Amino acid sequence: MRNKGKISAGHNQMRWVILLLVIAVVLPTVCLLWFMSQTVKNERLAIRQKLIDIYTAKLPNSFANYCNDYWGNIENKLIKNIDEYEDNLKIFPEKYIEQYEDFSAFVIYEQGKITYPIFEHNTPVLSDRVCDVWKLEYVDRNFQEAIKQYEFIGSTSSIMEVVYECKFAIVRCLSKQGELAQAIAQCELLAYQDANETVNLPPKQIALAGLMLVNLYGRTNNENLLAELEYQLSNSAKLVFPTETKMFVLGKLIALAAEVELSDKLKSQIENAERIINCQKIALAASGLFESSMPEKTFRNIPKIKSLYGISFRLYNGDVLGLVTSEKMSQFWQETVEINEDEIVFCRVADGLGLRIDSKTSSEQPFLSFNPSGFFPDWKIEVYFRQGVFAAATRQQQVVYFWIAILVIVFMTLLVIFSARAILRQAKMNRLKNDFIATVTHELKTPLSSMRVLVDTILQGNYEEEKTATEYMKLISKENARLSRLIDNFLTFSRMERNKQAFNLIKIAPAKIAESAVEAMRTKFNNENCRFNVAIDENLPFVLADKDAMITVLVNLLDNAYKYSYDDKQIELKVFGDEAGVCFSVKDNGIGMTRRQMRKIFDRFYQADSSLARSVEGTGLGLSIVKFIIDAHKGKIEVESKPGKGSEFRVVIPICKD
Ligand code: ADP
Repeated sequence: MRNKGKISAGHNQMRWVILLLVIAVVLPTVCLLWFMSQTVKNERLAIRQKLIDIYTAKLPNSFANYCNDYWGNIENKLIKNIDEYEDNLKIFPEKYIEQYEDFSAFVIYEQGKITYPIFEHNTPVLSDRVCDVWKLEYVDRNFQEAIKQYEFIGSTSSIMEVVYECKFAIVRCLSKQGELAQAIAQCELLAYQDANETVNLPPKQIALAGLMLVNLYGRTNNENLLAELEYQLSNSAKLVFPTETKMFVLGKLIALAAEVELSDKLKSQIENAERIINCQKIALAASGLFESSMPEKTFRNIPKIKSLYGISFRLYNGDVLGLVTSEKMSQFWQETVEINEDEIVFCRVADGLGLRIDSKTSSEQPFLSFNPSGFFPDWKIEVYFRQGVFAAATRQQQVVYFWIAILVIVFMTLLVIFSARAILRQAKMNRLKNDFIATVTHELKTPLSSMRVLVDTILQGNYEEEKTATEYMKLISKENARLSRLIDNFLTFSRMERNKQAFNLIKIAPAKIAESAVEAMRTKFNNENCRFNVAIDENLPFVLADKDAMITVLVNLLDNAYKYSYDDKQIELKVFGDEAGVCFSVKDNGIGMTRRQMRKIFDRFYQADSSLARSVEGTGLGLSIVKFIIDAHKGKIEVESKPGKGSEFRVVIPICKD
């Protein structure tokens, strides 16, 4: 019971030691990991702050410079162009957009009124006479008579609008009458006013006549249709006349062009005409919203037309409002932003009304937001960090920390394992040493006390015959031999422990070793419970061995065979040649061993926990000494055993080759 208590107390202590060791690993590991994660976090914050500082210092200037350069150049170009058309500013917008793509349209404001787009100010009121003929033409469909009337009114009227209307009406009536050749001839005269013509048609009428001519060519499949279309498209684009009529003429001409096979020239003219129509449309829409109070050189949303931005420049006698569509504007910003973006940040732009002009999204908050000065003071640029930037920046650091952590953890774990093993080994050694002392004391006490009793008996003369005294003496000698063996074993073990054991290897006949061992055991084995067979092969080769050590080996094995056998002991010692050397085999019919026991018997102080093992004397050192000696001889020891059946120990040592 006391033992058990001790063991469990020892186990508890061990448990505490192991727990402390585990804590010694876990605690620093947790601290280390926490410290590293904090370091990475701080590192991220530091990098973030550094980047914010860098971009805050760099981006607003960079944006401002880029915008100012870009739009400053455009402004210079624009002003230069305006100067060229100083006398007739109305021509400027369409000329400009033909060449450049930065603006889509313009509104020109001169001396208090809008001069582009061009509005028709005084629509002429045609006289009642013309209206009467219209009745003839449209209601009665009497074209013949209508032509006559138109000719008459045209030649007598002093109002130019009436004269133009009559000329057009005649062409109209001729074509309605089916006299297309004549209608074309008349129309050609209008479209290409020859020198004889008394009336000089204004641009609007020339353009309308041209349109009419193209129409007639189309109806008659005239071979000049394509050339005419080309001419009229470019001519109408060039002429300056009210915007709405120009849009109508150009639109119609484009529609007529759809019916012919397009030449490259025509295609580019159509494109140009479309651009002009678009410019006019935008100019018309914006003209109503033109505010001359708009701050100069500042891009603003055109009120009510969200997809349009305007910038106004002062002229010597008015203003020019440059108009940019949102597509063009976002194209500009895309380029601007691309120049300033990199793999770390991206930017978003919002116009003066806060409308974003990009399609980017971000769930994060911008780390920097500013107004680009110069042309865009109300606009806002937001700068965001790209996703995963900081993770990427600290990744290398993280990897380094990770490996340091792994190394430290591994190192600490190993340290703890080694310490635990050392402590456990030390604890085991202490226990074994205590056991050993107890065993030694016990083992020494038994032969000594029996010797003392025998010697006392002889000294007191308490024996009847001389024979008995001799027997007592023999017994004393036997105990003495046992004591010597025991002490020999202890000494060998002690030397072994201190690595002081030196072997005196000499060339020797194996038979000599075996015979000496048998001689040492003879007295012990010489009783009726024990049958001891010795078989030593003849002509065995010499071995290189320490005779005394080898005798110790065999004596230990024979002693064990005796100790661990039942009353009817059969012990056999065989010495024979083996392919690896000379084999000494000690076989018994004793208690045998389990596999588990066999694996441990060569350990120091090991004693199998069988009842017999405990009842016999022993220290658990014999076989460890045997193993030590055999190893020193470069030999090997094997054991075969079955519980209850007996055991066989085979020791093989190499033969002496010289
Ligand atoms: P001990 O002093 O206890 O005999 P040993 O080192 O000689 O120490 O043996 C270790 C253990 O091996 C023994 O306690 C015993 O249990 C087992 N053993 C050794 N030889 C034999 C054998 N011949 N038969 C059965 N068990 C044996």
